[in-house]
Amino acid sequence: MVTHPDSQPNPTPMKTLMNAPPAIVILGEASITVARRVQTAIPEAIIYGLASRTQSANLTYSSFGETVRELFQAGTPIVGVCAAGILIRTLAPLLMNKWQEPAVLAIAEDGSAVVPLLGGLGTANHLARQIAAVLQVSPAITTAGDLRFQATLLSPPAGYQLVNPDDAKSFISDLLAGATVKLMGEAPWLETSRLPISAEGKLTIQIVQKGGSEQTPSIRCLVYKFNPESIHSPPSTPHFRQGKLAIVGTGPGSSVWMSPEVKEILQSATDWVGYKTYLDLAEPLRSAYTIRHESDNRAELDRARMALDLAATGRTVAIVSSGDPGIYAMAAAVFEVLEREAKPEWEGIEIQVFPGISAMQAAAAQVGAPLGHDFCAISLSDILKPWEVIAQRIAAAAQADFAIAFYNPVSKQRTWQLEQAKEILLQWRSPQTPVVLARNLGRPGQTVTVKFLEQLAIDDADMRTVILIGSSKTRMVQQRQGKQWVYTPRRY
Ligand code: SAH
Repeated sequence: MVTHPDSQPNPTPMKTLMNAPPAIVILGEASITVARRVQTAIPEAIIYGLASRTQSANLTYSSFGETVRELFQAGTPIVGVCAAGILIRTLAPLLMNKWQEPAVLAIAEDGSAVVPLLGGLGTANHLARQIAAVLQVSPAITTAGDLRFQATLLSPPAGYQLVNPDDAKSFISDLLAGATVKLMGEAPWLETSRLPISAEGKLTIQIVQKGGSEQTPSIRCLVYKFNPESIHSPPSTPHFRQGKLAIVGTGPGSSVWMSPEVKEILQSATDWVGYKTYLDLAEPLRSAYTIRHESDNRAELDRARMALDLAATGRTVAIVSSGDPGIYAMAAAVFEVLEREAKPEWEGIEIQVFPGISAMQAAAAQVGAPLGHDFCAISLSDILKPWEVIAQRIAAAAQADFAIAFYNPVSKQRTWQLEQAKEILLQWRSPQTPVVLARNLGRPGQTVTVKFLEQLAIDDADMRTVILIGSSKTRMVQQRQGKQWVYTPRRY
């Protein structure tokens, strides 16, 4: 029985988990670090932890043997952070058909070894390589076919589809026994492999172009259909079939402030959804197959709905925000639509949020550490909430002596809010409070200015400016020959 950590019974019976994302199974909290690293290689994977010995797993179970066998029978790829022997003994009674088993891998508890145990002819080696790459070790690949031919006949590259996978077992056995193979048609991935290709081959691999005629597939002849239209689709991930929605934050602008994880997601997504300016900033990362869906900056809920609808068709969608996606941005919009409209076809979408550097962090870093102690963020936009709420919040924050980051300080339509905010602040804070005005951070034309609160004027800001207001403790410090820094001490 698998349960969520809050002990809610799992509503999905195990038998329905066909095509489920891989399960990372751990036996103790000490394995969580390695499990998390594995999860960065296969983000859709779910961490299963032994209930009595783990706290931070995604799901918990009470019986290792029962759970692993249930997962296996449901066709779920299993990555056990445990000794290979434990997995082997647990699954031994179920090992009957090597062409139908899911991938099973053992990972050493310290991440030093990645061993694909079962399903090597399908996805296990592929998974092992992905995981080994993040753990920075060599995967212990032991399948002869894979090593000797370096061509994964069972998982061909994008664009190629094996017509007769059931015949592959005998075919590969013959190859391993020394048979040569005749290649009919063009397949660069096979030509550069170590397959024993020969014009007199007893075995045949045929590549059929779209509309071309096909040989009869058999145990002597593997047939691949080649569809040139799908060559520009992203590399197939055989263990994953549902649609995905990645809610990403690109940081304030410059690509050096974008996380490697977000870059990877953007490069591999089939679709980008977002405001034109943000998509333009990420454009250098776009692959030929990625479709852009631009929208108006203010139509956030429509954009979220559209991204969910796209993901529901099985696509891998990245919905793009600048900065952090959870700070005045698309993540909340997605969950708002998800909750409010609850379309059944959205149920299966795998949603993940990928953080980014927010404007206030980038601004703070330019001048030192103005947010070095307690702080808060307030959006001055009264489009989504009434001004009274904002005014009251500024007063409370000023009274509580928070340093404050003002987002959305001014726009073409909203020009008076900043002036009012300043008035409220001056009721509680000294006119000499340091204020940081940061415009176009990480983008061409970046400017960062420090002044006193009393000098703050509406012309200092626009919708590309974030403003940091110091607390009563925020100080300026000048290096003898250098720059003027602003910081808020951590000690009172
Ligand atoms: N999700 C974003 C915030 C979006 S709200 C983040 O985490 O940064 C939009 C506001 O963010 C702008 O009005 C401005 O106040 C601030 N902002 C976003 N990008 C900025 C940048 N590159 N430079 C300065 N301010 C920025």
